[in-house]
Amino acid sequence: MDNLEEAATAIKMHDNFVLTTHINPDGDALGSLMGLGLALLNAGKNAVMIMPHPIPVAFQFMPGSRQVQKTSDVLARFDLGITLDCTDITRAGEEAQKVLQRAGKLLNIDHHISNQYFGDLNVVDPQAAATGEIIYDLLLKAKMPVTSEIATNLYTAIITDTGSFQHQNTTAKCLRTAALLLDCGAAHRVVQQHLYEQRSLESLRLLARGLESLSLNEEGTVAWMTISRDSLYSSGAAVDDSEGLIDYVKSLKGVEVGIVFKEVNPSEIKVSFRSNNYLDVNKLAAHFGGGGHERAAGCTINGELGDIEQLVIRKTEEQLFAMNENSGGPRK
Ligand code: 5GP
Ligand code: MN
Repeated sequence: MDNLEEAATAIKMHDNFVLTTHINPDGDALGSLMGLGLALLNAGKNAVMIMPHPIPVAFQFMPGSRQVQKTSDVLARFDLGITLDCTDITRAGEEAQKVLQRAGKLLNIDHHISNQYFGDLNVVDPQAAATGEIIYDLLLKAKMPVTSEIATNLYTAIITDTGSFQHQNTTAKCLRTAALLLDCGAAHRVVQQHLYEQRSLESLRLLARGLESLSLNEEGTVAWMTISRDSLYSSGAAVDDSEGLIDYVKSLKGVEVGIVFKEVNPSEIKVSFRSNNYLDVNKLAAHFGGGGHERAAGCTINGELGDIEQLVIRKTEEQLFAMNENSGGPRK
């Protein structure tokens, strides 16, 4: 992979690091952050991991999560800033951008196809199933030990970004890396228990509200779910509890694109896209200022929930229609 050697050298040469990942972090974001962060700390370096908000409860089992500091509390200067799983620097949040800009150099490690190569050094591999997979290779290259704690973080990264090895990004390489992480002591059952067997009653009630809202276009190719402020309120759930609901939407037979609209704040709608076989949802999300991968992407749009639903569904159907036209008939 391009630049991996240079990144390993940069990590060995410097002693004073600040690391961060994207807002609304998922398992890959946090697993990469704490996987690399703990490796640097174990090597006796100063490595400060920062996030603008507390780590979501579901991920607090991950080793190192208590060492992550609040971005606004960090005023120091660092030799090397590292962003993990961020397509562009704005994804790190406003406060983190200031901390990163004060750092001597910026290293951008990511696997999104929409990455903007904003670092002084960029390690971007869209073939990697997760940023955590790249971190494993980086630690090997830098000859830094992968402890069981680091392995658990990187394993969580791979599990969450492949949907437990179900998504199209599941490659032989990522399965091999996962196996090697188990050899290093990754706690497979602990990860499974915390990610998939600890659901709150509120989050299941939210699933019920979400399923009630499920809609399908005329052709049955686009399905969407709406998580409104009302459904959050009536179920007693938090926005974080809606993580994973999109998998139900895209599992519907015949559906190519699954969408979830979440009213995270009044007039602020987070949109998640997943496609099953052929529509490039990274392009679709980019149309609304977001990004991601070909089969999983997202964006945030300001406006009224109903208006945004209409706008996004129309654009999705337009892009599906254009693809089907270009390929001479409906794609399977
Ligand atoms: P999710 O729908 O689970 O939030 O995100 C799916 C994928 O799209 C993730 O890889 C995530 O990093 C990316 N993504 C989600 N929202 C945004 C966004 O607003 N901008 C960009 N650039 N990427 C996003
Ligand atoms: Mn990722």
